[in-house]
Amino acid sequence: MIDVVGENNPRAKMTVRDVRFARKASAAGLGTYREIATHLGVSRNSAAKAIRRITWRELRQAAPRSARFWSKVERSNGDGCWIYGKAPRRYGRFWNGHGCIGGHRYVMQITLGRRLRRDEYVCHRCDTPGCVRPDHLFVATQSENLVDARDKGRLSSVVPPKLKGEECPWAKLSERDVKKIRELRCVGHYTQEQVAEMFGVSGPTISRIERREIWRHV
Ligand SMILES: [Zn+2]
Repeated sequence: MIDVVGENNPRAKMTVRDVRFARKASAAGLGTYREIATHLGVSRNSAAKAIRRITWRELRQAAPRSARFWSKVERSNGDGCWIYGKAPRRYGRFWNGHGCIGGHRYVMQITLGRRLRRDEYVCHRCDTPGCVRPDHLFVATQSENLVDARDKGRLSSVVPPKLKGEECPWAKLSERDVKKIRELRCVGHYTQEQVAEMFGVSGPTISRIERREIWRHV
C-alpha cells in the first residue's frame, strides 16, 4: 500500500500552509492549541497533533539559510580566522536564495542587517579571503579597497575590468568584421589563410573566431 501522507491523504483536515502556520504560531506563543485550532477551523486535537509533530511528521521546517551557512564555517579558537568552505585562500561562494555571493559579503549583510551596495566592498583585516569572522571584516568603498590592497602589497591582485571585443583598445577587428569572417568561412569559398589575409590577422585568430573562443558575444 502506498503511504499517503500530508495533503495527499484524503482524510487530511489541514493543508501544508495550515500546519506551517500552526507550528509557527505555537512556537511564537501566539495562542493556545485551541485558539490556533479555532483560527484554522479544525479540531483542537488535529491542531495539537500537527503542532507536536505526531501528524505531518514528514513536513520538516527547512533549516534557515543562515544556519546552513554557519554549518559550513570552521571556527578556530581565540582570535583566529573562521574559514568558510574549507579554503582559506579563496573567497567561498554562497547561494543566498537570489544569487551567488561571497561568504564574507553574506556575513557582512547579516551583521549590518541590510543589503550591501555594489560599490561597497567587504575587506579582510586578516587578509584571509576565506575568512568570514565578522570582526575580521570591514566595509570599504572601491577607492578605500584599493588603498587597503596597496598597503597590504596586494595591488597586483586587483583585476582591471574585463574588456571585450571592440572595447579593447588593441582590437584589430570590429564586430562587423567578425560577422563577415564567420559568414565567409561558413560559405566555404575561402580558406582560413585567405580570410586571415583579407582582414590582416593571423590564421589561428580566424580559427579561434570560428570556434568562438574569441568574440563569443558577436
Ligand atoms: Zn580572519
